[in-house]
Amino acid sequence: MSEYQNKVFWHQNVDFHIDKKPLESSSDIVIVGAGFTGLATALHLLRAGKSVTIFDAMTIGEGASGKNGGMVGPSLHKLGLAGLTNAYGRQKALEILQEGMTAISYFQEFIAEENIDCDLKMTGRFRGVTNEQALEGVKRDSENLLALDGFKYDVVEKQNVHDEIGSDLYQGGVIYHQDGGLQPYKLVTSLATKVTELGGIIHENTRVSDITKTPNGFQVETTIGTVSAGDVVVASNAYTKKFGGNYSKWFSKRLLPITSAMIATEELPKDTIDRFFPKKRMHGGNHRLVQYYRASPDHKRVLFGARGPDRLDRADKNGPVLKEHLCKIFPELENVKIDYSWSGRVAYTFDHTPHLGIQDGIYYAIGYCGSGVTRSIYLARQLSRRILGQENHQTAFDDLGFKSKPFYNGNPWFMPAVLKWHSFLDRIEGN
Ligand SMILES: Cc1cc2nc3c(=O)[nH]c(=O)nc-3n(C[C@H](O)[C@H](O)[C@H](O)COP(=O)(O)OP(=O)(O)OC[C@H]3O[C@@H](n4cnc5c(N)ncnc54)[C@H](O)[C@@H]3O)c2cc1C
Repeated sequence: MSEYQNKVFWHQNVDFHIDKKPLESSSDIVIVGAGFTGLATALHLLRAGKSVTIFDAMTIGEGASGKNGGMVGPSLHKLGLAGLTNAYGRQKALEILQEGMTAISYFQEFIAEENIDCDLKMTGRFRGVTNEQALEGVKRDSENLLALDGFKYDVVEKQNVHDEIGSDLYQGGVIYHQDGGLQPYKLVTSLATKVTELGGIIHENTRVSDITKTPNGFQVETTIGTVSAGDVVVASNAYTKKFGGNYSKWFSKRLLPITSAMIATEELPKDTIDRFFPKKRMHGGNHRLVQYYRASPDHKRVLFGARGPDRLDRADKNGPVLKEHLCKIFPELENVKIDYSWSGRVAYTFDHTPHLGIQDGIYYAIGYCGSGVTRSIYLARQLSRRILGQENHQTAFDDLGFKSKPFYNGNPWFMPAVLKWHSFLDRIEGN
């Protein structure tokens, strides 16, 4: 049997289940998807006195919310200040980036105010770079970001890299101080518990198959029956096409679902993990094929994530490829056992920006481009304010338009070729 069994590290030692409830005939608001977006939106709506029903085609956290790297931060836009300025002008570019700073501040307040135990530690993130040219690039990009309120970074020159990470791969890097890490399954299950305590109803293993407009709102068809709703929120992110019916076509055409996979090593000796992660930070590199890694919250294992080559979540296909990448950073892990290997879907958008709004009367917050922990919790607050008719619901993303591409129907058939190309470029650039 392969060493790589499909098993999520985060599920260890978290005891969680919710009781099955009968289907109600109506609800003020129906939410499609019980991940961070759906559950956090529900929490705000319930506190405002609304009745809320959430449907999830799988179980709570079985989408990306219970499976991710648990890295939080401003998730500054992939295009950076220069790219965003080209696309939208400097003022708008700064507003888009500042939204990330607002999101991470709000995120920390939210976790504190809700008193959620999810091992959140704001230890910062080290982004290592493998060549001097890339180091100049990250220094320049980071310096540009000083235009944002609250942005802080430090450059790490080559001779100091081992203060940040026990690897010889990097020629330097940058520390982003507004980043941190948490245990995502604890967060998603805590949110679900709060939602049910406030009277929200969550139906797991129940797919929403259709949503139709009625004179008073919507008729929502599910695999266990039909519910009428005043409003509907689509919070299905990268799983929109997989489970959605006709209603989801508009969203699917705007989302590129991509597999992100993770592995967790066996427990390592304390001095090894202390040497690898002396500051207990989150980590990433300058690879075109996105890579992210960290120690587990108990500081015993290495958790490593990257784009997964297999779209069917086969751990035996994804796991060995990830281990190969991991061993380029820490060659001494060659003979270490991988105890956990899993994957999920992230949703990219064509403009690399998350989107929230209303389409044909249906509210949505979607398309976090692989960085959705902080963003989903923040956009859920903004979206719920909008649904409730409250002030201050605006975001810098509101007026960007949510574009598709001609002939794209939600199936990113070209992605394997794009990933292969990125992997090839990483190889020839020595990454
Ligand atoms: C391996 C991995 C690592 C990641 N690492 C990070 C990280 O370190 N930091 C970070 O910021 N982000 C990370 N992400 C991304 C982040 O996890 C997501 O952006 C975020 O969890 C999205 O939350 P969500 O609630 O919008 O969607 P999800 O958590 O994906 O939930 C969507 C839910 O909708 C349900 N659904 C879909 N259609 C229907 C339907 N028709 N009927 C009923 N239910 C439906 C699905 O079953 C699913 O449970 C990672 C993702 C993955 C997969």
